[in-house]
Amino acid sequence: MATVLGLKCRECGELYPVSPVHVCELCFGPLEIIYDLEAIAKKVSRESIEAGPTSMWRYRDLLPIDGEPTVGLDCGWTPLVRADRLGKELGINNLYLKNDSVNHPTLSFKDRVVAVALTKAKEFGYQVVACASTGNLANSVAAHAAQAGLESYVFIPADLEQGKILGTLIYGTHLLAVSGNYDEVNRLCAEAAGKYGWGFVNINLRPFYGDGSKTFGYEIAEQLGWKAPDHVVVPCAGGSLISKIYKGLGELNALGLIDGVPTKMYAAQATGCNPITSMITSGAEVMRPVKPNTIAKSIAIGNPADGYFAAETVRKSGGWAADVTDEEVVDGIRLLGRTEGIFAETASGVTVSVAKKLAAEGRFGRNDVVVLAITGNGLKTQEAVSGELGRPTYIQPNLQSLDTALRAETLVTA
Ligand SMILES: *Cc1c(COP(=O)(O)O)cnc(C)c1O
Ligand SMILES: [Zn+2]
Repeated sequence: MATVLGLKCRECGELYPVSPVHVCELCFGPLEIIYDLEAIAKKVSRESIEAGPTSMWRYRDLLPIDGEPTVGLDCGWTPLVRADRLGKELGINNLYLKNDSVNHPTLSFKDRVVAVALTKAKEFGYQVVACASTGNLANSVAAHAAQAGLESYVFIPADLEQGKILGTLIYGTHLLAVSGNYDEVNRLCAEAAGKYGWGFVNINLRPFYGDGSKTFGYEIAEQLGWKAPDHVVVPCAGGSLISKIYKGLGELNALGLIDGVPTKMYAAQATGCNPITSMITSGAEVMRPVKPNTIAKSIAIGNPADGYFAAETVRKSGGWAADVTDEEVVDGIRLLGRTEGIFAETASGVTVSVAKKLAAEGRFGRNDVVVLAITGNGLKTQEAVSGELGRPTYIQPNLQSLDTALRAETLVTA
């Protein structure tokens, strides 16, 4: 069981025992989980993982929980889709989509992080859990808290999409809509975490939450036949997912489950909120926070907690970054729908259009394997495209009306 050695400061290296803390007492650096990879190597093999559940919990020995998982048992193991039609449009020969728009139970990759954070919250004995969210985390914390019988408090910027608000309220949570942007919501929550004894999944439970994202990377490699891809394009908000995918691939390599990590990581953001991509493309050493202004609300974090590490991951891997306008976000959502039959949310519109840009810049080799992280479902951000898709053609229930409609030039075909 003892595969977790403790927590370690990412800045100064100070060690801490497993507990609900997230910043170093000495230098205020962020803490991360340290695993005993030698002990894990003795327990896991490709075969043992393949014989595990068809969920993210097939990697249970690589996750920071002590007992068996108790929350989110059907999260993960989402499809890795080969995307030849989209690839043709983008000029990428070997394109795959890791499709977390159908992750369970709330249709975004956030279910992975919450499944780990709330399993851990129960191990720590929390009765009440909470989060600061741009939308998908709100949905996921509320749903998993309901499943686990925990009380929950969910904090969001007040101007989120209807789908994100309804998709939180339905689970019977306490939803606090704050008049302010995400960074203001997060600051309030950091203060609240000190005052109330709640388990904030992305504040005091952040090290455990973050490692749930590793499973996104594990699954990509396993689904490619135990092989790391050449390139992964990832939408960035707080900057956690991109570095955890890379960390996950590194662990599989260290465990001998894959043979090397040639993978280059690419950060994708909206131009209206690009603190991470602008840091990378400008070569800056420090991240400059921005005031978010984009329809890609789920990734609109102006002062990302892990922004520095996201940029470091991109640089270390030899990848790059790009951002796209809101218009390109809508184009990306439509292109994905029209070519691959996947309706994804704004964050994925960002990813698709950024991939198009990177491909046009010649960043991917001819036969390289490219994976796009599709992280959330389009039914939750309908506002982004609702004015863009035309109308149905209305007809009467008879063939004459159908014939007339088929002949009419106004027939919507796209
Ligand atoms: C939260 C989120 C991200 C980015 O996650 P970080 O780990 O905060 O960078 C990407 N896509 C969607 C849909 C999200 O909800
Ligand atoms: Zn420290």
